[in-house]
Amino acid sequence: MSVDRWRADFPILAREVHGKPLVYFDNANTAQKPRAVIEAVSEFYTRHNANVARAVHTLGEEATTLYEAARAKLAAFLGITDPHELVLSSGTTAAINLVAHGYLRPRLQAGDEILVTAMEHHANIVPWQIVAAATGAVLKVAPVHDDGTLDLPALLALIGPRTKMVAVVHVSNVLGTINPVAEIAKATRATGVPLLVDGSQAVPHFPVDVPALGCDFYAFTGHKLFGPTGTGALWGKGELLEAMQPVIGGGEMIESVSFEGTVFAPPPRRFEAGTPNIAGFVGLGAAVDYLGTLDLVAARAHEHALGEALRAGLAAMPGVRLIGEAPERVAVASFVVEGVHATDLAVLLDLEGVAVRSGQHCAHPLMQRYGVGATARASLAFYNTAEEVERFFLALDKVRRMF
Ligand code: PLP
Repeated sequence: MSVDRWRADFPILAREVHGKPLVYFDNANTAQKPRAVIEAVSEFYTRHNANVARAVHTLGEEATTLYEAARAKLAAFLGITDPHELVLSSGTTAAINLVAHGYLRPRLQAGDEILVTAMEHHANIVPWQIVAAATGAVLKVAPVHDDGTLDLPALLALIGPRTKMVAVVHVSNVLGTINPVAEIAKATRATGVPLLVDGSQAVPHFPVDVPALGCDFYAFTGHKLFGPTGTGALWGKGELLEAMQPVIGGGEMIESVSFEGTVFAPPPRRFEAGTPNIAGFVGLGAAVDYLGTLDLVAARAHEHALGEALRAGLAAMPGVRLIGEAPERVAVASFVVEGVHATDLAVLLDLEGVAVRSGQHCAHPLMQRYGVGATARASLAFYNTAEEVERFFLALDKVRRMF
């Protein structure tokens, strides 16, 4: 079975938790790392460690080459022809903050509007609230239907003359819903409003050709894409990155500095002040290489089928309510179990070796929308198996009967 081969690439999947084989169903939180990534990071520190873009000695050049190679690999993975349009960041959160403070804030006036959806992660809410509070701008929110789909007509109707940014999640980390970002992009392009897409939960699950989506900015995080933590990127259209101010100043983001003033470097360097997470990006480059060695179509079909089986089993279980049943979705299932707090559920499942996330998933407004204090969330990757789904159901049934 291919899945056995894939699993063998992830050493952590062989470990036990509380004496039981690990069932790792928390991939939307962070994905596990294949040996190729672990070894690339180790190899970097063992053989190549030096700072990037400043030292001319051999190690410095090797480190710079590896770091820039990672940028090029990521760009190619996402259909981006010019790697200079890819700003490497510590993750989605940093990428969205960069756009909020570097692009939008200088352009905002009191009464201007920023449009998000009700299914955003806090990373795509709070940065906009901060710049809105500083400028007198207003946050508008497009609603979500009961089934977890976005109310697209309502979103489109909210785009008006005062809208200065539309920021939408590609795939909800709670509902699993895949949003129609290309359709949203058509509308924003027609009105000239920039569109930022939070792709954190999209790039691990299906092929994304970022420029073809028609958006203006695309943010994602590397650790959900089987790479190291503290990595991610912002893609921006060349002219928008050119027009964007740096938010963090320091070394490596300048052409020249004097006490009279500083000339900033062109993008992407302008937005990469200081020493980056070099080893992390080398690892992320290795993650992209690793994905390139897989039959990704088969891997993703396997993951999707497993996700559907997981949802069907949850839906059939007495006392279980699924939150979000959009037809276009990834293998993420949020649910509540009658009479059991989500955190208790996650703790008790852990005793059975099953790792799921519980809580509000950095999406407080969405929890309020569905009238739940918290949910448990099982989120899959291509290395999960049907046997693990069965073990999850057995564990869940056992826990459910305790209450
Ligand atoms: N956006 C979404 C949809 C997410 O799921 C996450 C992480 O859970 C983030 C943003 C934030 O990612 P990071 O913490 O890596 O910046």
